[in-house]
Amino acid sequence: MQYRKMGKLGWDVSALGFGAMRLPTKGILKRLDEEEAIRIIRRGIDLGINYVDTAWPYHMGNSEKVLGKALQDGYREKVKLVTKLPMFLVRKADDFEKFLKSQLESLQTDHVDLYLFHSLNKTYFNVVKKFNLIEKMEHAKAAGKINAIGFSFHDSLPKFKEIIDYYEWDACQIQYNYMDTAIQANQEGLAYAHSKDIAVIIMEPVKGGMLANPPREALDIMNNAPIHRSPVDWALQFIWNQPEVSIVLSGMGNMKMVEENCASADKSGVKSLSEEENQILTQITQIYREKIRVPCTACRYCMPCPFGVNIPENFATINAISLNDSKAPMDRLLRFQQKNRYRSLAKNKAQLVKKPNMGRSSLCTKCGACIPKCPQEINIPEELTKVMAVMEKHQSIDDVYQ
Ligand code: SF4
Ligand code: SF4
Repeated sequence: MQYRKMGKLGWDVSALGFGAMRLPTKGILKRLDEEEAIRIIRRGIDLGINYVDTAWPYHMGNSEKVLGKALQDGYREKVKLVTKLPMFLVRKADDFEKFLKSQLESLQTDHVDLYLFHSLNKTYFNVVKKFNLIEKMEHAKAAGKINAIGFSFHDSLPKFKEIIDYYEWDACQIQYNYMDTAIQANQEGLAYAHSKDIAVIIMEPVKGGMLANPPREALDIMNNAPIHRSPVDWALQFIWNQPEVSIVLSGMGNMKMVEENCASADKSGVKSLSEEENQILTQITQIYREKIRVPCTACRYCMPCPFGVNIPENFATINAISLNDSKAPMDRLLRFQQKNRYRSLAKNKAQLVKKPNMGRSSLCTKCGACIPKCPQEINIPEELTKVMAVMEKHQSIDDVYQ
């Protein structure tokens, strides 16, 4: 494992952090597989990971509980433990103590090493100011319940800079990958935070898994590159190449991912990519940009939909069909599988009883409840209408997304 400095905190943190938002699940309802989750978290720590990240809403509140169990038997002392105040649930100032107390209980610890305001944007930043939540953070720090203060972020660069300048933060967490260098906090925000010695934690390094499954043309470029790397390794090395990055979080869901990502982290380094490799990444990025239809990262913040639509599943299906659009036999097979994936979703209320929250795009009533919850600012009902046009009305994908 390689270790990097965590800004002004001075911590030596593993280049790879364990994100506990996509832990293993089982069954049709995708319930968290507690035993396997504990096994893979501990394996990651045994391989050198010393930073684990969770949050209140991950796995409907169960991520923190399972992490608390995984960190028993001496594992808590081996890691920096990070969780977040669920800003979308804060209604009054006292909620701060209520959530932190409950989170420490779930995590079975008397303190977290870093506490973040979760998913700050214009709205939630106003909540921070309205309820003086930074003061609350400082009181919690003085009481030994948290060691450092930061925020995770989903909004535009000007808002990011405004938040950065508002307080002497220890750390910030931003979305960044080779596709997303020009949206949200972006490359400029990364450099800006780093210039103030604020540790920068990277989330969504493989864009919710999208960069793990490249389209055929991108895969051909990767396969012909002078150095062999998996698609995920290309995505991770792109980030570790940046000197401003302290840590890359990966939401790992099985043992293979843990082993492979730790192996990638072992050979990571600042400015380790050659000019030729950077050019390859530019070509791959271009191909992805042309093919991705909906920039959904499968974070599931929009879920559950009150009408049972499985929003990320619908978007994953349309993106997979678009990414694998060639006439090659393998692409035909992949598209066939995606169509079956879509058909397996519930198409009416009766089917939703057996498959809760697994509804097709056509079940969307356009109520709009999901729109403010999406950190990618996707107009979800509008995009679901397009999914329905392709998947149920059999319109051409190019016509629908022209
Ligand atoms: S707009 Fe559609 S997808 Fe969004 S919450 Fe309403 S019914 Fe669900
Ligand atoms: S639509 Fe938005 S909120 Fe929902 S899973 Fe995708 S990125 Fe997340």
